[in-house]
Amino acid sequence: MEIVDQITTVFQKNFGQPPPHMARAPGRVNLLGEHVDYNDGFVLPAAIERATYIAFSPATSQHTTLVAADFNERAIFSPRTIPTKTQTDSTPLPEWAHYPAGVMWALLEEDLFVPAINAVYASNVPRGSGLSSSASVEMAFIIAWQTLGGWALPLMQRALLGQKAENQYVGVNSGIMDQFASACGIENKLLLLDCRSLDWQTIPWPEHVAIVIADTAVRRKLTSGEYNKRRAACEEAVRLLKQDLPNIRALRDVNVEDFNHLSKKLPDIVSKRARHVVEEIERSKQAPALLEAEDIQNFGRLMNECHISLRDLYEVSCPELDTMVNIAQAIEGCYGARLTGAGFGGCTVNLVEYQHVNTFARALATRYESETGYHPEIYISRPSDGAALLW
Ligand code: ADP
Ligand code: MG
Repeated sequence: MEIVDQITTVFQKNFGQPPPHMARAPGRVNLLGEHVDYNDGFVLPAAIERATYIAFSPATSQHTTLVAADFNERAIFSPRTIPTKTQTDSTPLPEWAHYPAGVMWALLEEDLFVPAINAVYASNVPRGSGLSSSASVEMAFIIAWQTLGGWALPLMQRALLGQKAENQYVGVNSGIMDQFASACGIENKLLLLDCRSLDWQTIPWPEHVAIVIADTAVRRKLTSGEYNKRRAACEEAVRLLKQDLPNIRALRDVNVEDFNHLSKKLPDIVSKRARHVVEEIERSKQAPALLEAEDIQNFGRLMNECHISLRDLYEVSCPELDTMVNIAQAIEGCYGARLTGAGFGGCTVNLVEYQHVNTFARALATRYESETGYHPEIYISRPSDGAALLW
């Protein structure tokens, strides 16, 4: 594999030997259950074939030396320099090194043995497109440190520590789904995560269906302000609905029927936001049975409904996402299409019959570019395995 060969060469150049170990940790895409994680709902992500690869060996000093091959940059740190986000020469850690340093910090907080390493890593998960390159980097480093540290954490524990690194060290407030999917992915399976209990299960993925991810090339303009407003509206809905439903803790606890009766009591905007969440959680509950029955047609329909809901009720779409989705839904072989991730740009996810996947990808790219002027990247994937040691 090209990326593995590339990293191997860079490792040899930097550390004077071939890498004794190589690990892989994938990015992820979410098929259903959008903006429900912070409402205790269910998400249905899959790990994708694109991944971060890391070559690593134990270091002979106390210093961890990392090479980010994609940036052609190096960073050196140790447990002593981690609290100040600096390198061993007292210069600041570059932004990209906050992720691995954050993982080391989170592992040290657990009192685990975290040896110094020499490592080279690179990724074919696009950065900042919503496919979770950051979680893939975190999970790759957890595999590296557990391999050389001589311990093994349960899968969900790895995900939680990656999330802790990202939330508390890097300072990005993200849910558990990204790290969960990267840690727990299984080839040819969709994952179903209960964001309240963290219980999860797998759902078989039909052999004849491809996951096609289409990047609008419009970058997320989701100011944290918009995201926070959506969260606040959901909390407001719970507070108001409690007057009639005293036992609810989150919108997860409200069913569609009760919501229909009570929604008039909510302010307009709050009602729209909450309706998306309540109905999306209902859709995600229908999904497993449809997939077990290989009813991709109806699963795709749920994805189309999800897009409309995100567009009209949750109002997190944008013209380019709507264009990409509209074009896709009209192409032969497409079962369903919707925006994926937080919204306001980024990617759409499409389910496409394998037989049509190449013509689909070409037609989508051509038509999108001629309508918007943006050149989209298209990634075709199947659900892949989660983070693991390759050798
Ligand atoms: P995403 O949606 O892709 O996770 P984020 O903004 O959460 O976007 O994370 C992107 C950040 O993760 C990058 O700015 C960089 O710091 C780090 N990162 C991702 N991929 C790599 C890589 N290949 N090499 C080094 N750092 C990376
Ligand atoms: Mg991220």
